[in-house]
Amino acid sequence: MRNPKIDFKNMTVKQWKQIITICVITLITILLFLAIFNGVRYAHYKKLIKNEQLVNTESYDNLDSQEISRLIKFLGSADPNESLSYQKSYPDLYVENDFNFVKSKDNVVYLTFDDGPNVNVTPRVLDVLKQYDVKATFFVIYKEGEAEEALYKRIVDEGHTIAVHTSSHSYNAIYSSVDAYLADFEKISSKIESVTGVKPEIFRFPGGSINSYNVGLYQELIAEMLRRGYVYYDWHVSSGDASGPSVSADKIKNNVLNTTNDKEAIVLMHDGPGHGATADALPGIIEGLKSKGYRFAALDNSVTPSCFGY
Ligand code: ZN
Repeated sequence: MRNPKIDFKNMTVKQWKQIITICVITLITILLFLAIFNGVRYAHYKKLIKNEQLVNTESYDNLDSQEISRLIKFLGSADPNESLSYQKSYPDLYVENDFNFVKSKDNVVYLTFDDGPNVNVTPRVLDVLKQYDVKATFFVIYKEGEAEEALYKRIVDEGHTIAVHTSSHSYNAIYSSVDAYLADFEKISSKIESVTGVKPEIFRFPGGSINSYNVGLYQELIAEMLRRGYVYYDWHVSSGDASGPSVSADKIKNNVLNTTNDKEAIVLMHDGPGHGATADALPGIIEGLKSKGYRFAALDNSVTPSCFGY
């Protein structure tokens, strides 16, 4: 019996069509397989990031070697057997955390204020919160003055959560490397602790966790902060109070009231310089949200975070 041979020269149009069909089907199958494989792999790494297992050398023990090299490749980092240099920095920059988040049973709003304290705006915000007996969260920046230090203390004394935003708020500086971010974080964290006696356990990335300044760095940055036990909070609702030079109090109030509809809502506002309109809008925001059936609470690290997708 001789071997069947394809005679390309004398093939009919029908035979050509059959060969082309087989090639196309094979190609589609390969592409589908690759898409599914990469999708599963990405979901897996995403889970590792969420579970704080990323860049943590101890957790490598639970992974097989192939898995490790894939993870390392994914992270773009170095030798898995050596911890990254910044992991050894700031040994006090750790908090105990079991990452056990609790879902609220009723409707709750977490009002948050970034970029303070400011001597003109923060006291007004605090006055309104006191008047309505509402607890909120302040993601603060580094300030040296006596008046600002008194405001750090007042935030804590009046039952609000004091949390880290940043020392410098300079995007280019803090997002230049993980080391630079940690240095900035440590400066504000230890400032808060020395002034108020409270060690912050939660934080908010300037510009949100994913922004145009930290492309290429945010995964490593998030992994390192989670490894140290810190939880970060982006937001569900933006008041829009920083969207332009002079946003009116009415506009800020309507932005919040019209877009707060979910069971749990973390609302972004600012109490930095020039944000008087936010203080003006606050009574209307609180009254409006109360009539929509919400209660208010300050964030702590048991609240399920709002994290921008990645
Ligand atoms: Zn900010």
